[in-house]
Amino acid sequence: MRVGPGATLGIVGGGQLARMMAFEAKRMGYRVAILDPDPAAPAVSVADLHISGKLDDDAAALRLANACEVVTLDTEHVPAAVLERIAHHTLVRPSPRTMGIVQDRLSQREFLSATGIPQPRTHSVSQPDDLTTVGAAVGFPFILKARRAGYDGRGQARVDSEAAVERAWASLGKVPCIAEEFVDFSREVSVLLARDVHGASSFFPIAENLHKNGVLHTTRVPARLAADVAVEAQALGERIALALDYVGVMAVEMFVTRQGSLWVNEIAPRPHNSAHFTFGACVTSQFEQHVRAVCGMTLGDPTLLSPVFMVNFLGDLWRDGPPDWSKVLRHPGVRLHLYGKEHASPARKMGHALVLDPDIERAARIAGQLAGELLSTTAHSPSRT
Ligand code: AMP
Repeated sequence: MRVGPGATLGIVGGGQLARMMAFEAKRMGYRVAILDPDPAAPAVSVADLHISGKLDDDAAALRLANACEVVTLDTEHVPAAVLERIAHHTLVRPSPRTMGIVQDRLSQREFLSATGIPQPRTHSVSQPDDLTTVGAAVGFPFILKARRAGYDGRGQARVDSEAAVERAWASLGKVPCIAEEFVDFSREVSVLLARDVHGASSFFPIAENLHKNGVLHTTRVPARLAADVAVEAQALGERIALALDYVGVMAVEMFVTRQGSLWVNEIAPRPHNSAHFTFGACVTSQFEQHVRAVCGMTLGDPTLLSPVFMVNFLGDLWRDGPPDWSKVLRHPGVRLHLYGKEHASPARKMGHALVLDPDIERAARIAGQLAGELLSTTAHSPSRT
């Protein structure tokens, strides 16, 4: 079923992904409703309607369902049962089934394994007994990850030896976890695709990502990837989307091992930070593409208009007050995005910049300079960011 401009798109979660989705949806003539407990959440000021409630609040979810022709999400951490209930009243895309699989790292790994997707060795850790077998199962070092609610490296611990296993599990609160073989990768990339309601897929260019402390730091596009590996990466992404009967934009984060193999790290069933470059450097942004897909429309053109380098701005930059944004805006080829968050804290994603340049090495240099300059200077006049 098609949901055309003029209809209301609901988004569960009001973070920066919802905000940028709302910008694009509103440009296209949709109305936007946001469900979020925080009236100051980034997407609320852009939306037509704010429904205040926690993301697992049934009554609030029902109010959203009744106000919208289609509902989507800016986070996978919404209980699948709540989404099922919304789905009794209106369209939910991507499906509650997809969210149920992806929001638990163990069920996501089991799904990938059943779909024949290459990935790191994994072992479930849910009770003290599992701690004695985990080292033999995946080897040292490994990464222990909380099964639910982790993001940006939170809810994760690296474990280097048998002696550190118990401490690591305790540091994560002894919640159910998975242990993953540590991958000695040469690169991290993400496959960014959209799938429409008829099963047609469209690919954005593959992104090459650099993480710092588990948080995305920079994205470089085009990625430095051999053509045959790029084809294989997109084929893996498409297989995953097909097996989920997916509708919407999806990112599949992958490791390129030193031997040149691809292993899937994780699926993000929504627009993704590593595809922010599309909002400025592609004919269609990932946000417009997601709106088109979940509204049952034809997908837009994903063509890259220019090589581009993205750098994230984390709350650490606000150490001595708001950064001096004139340092960024003095570059005509740089696009600044700030998410309108009132409070900065270390590692919190506050904004990003895109450097568009025909010479990607120059773009990378400028992005590096920007990050350095912002760290060393703060604005003299107060700013609401
Ligand atoms: P995640 O939240 O699972 O995407 O992890 C955040 C980042 O931590 C990844 O992008 C990698 O840089 C690193 N990481 C996660 N899992 C592994 C792994 N099994 N081996 C090596 N590095 C990892």
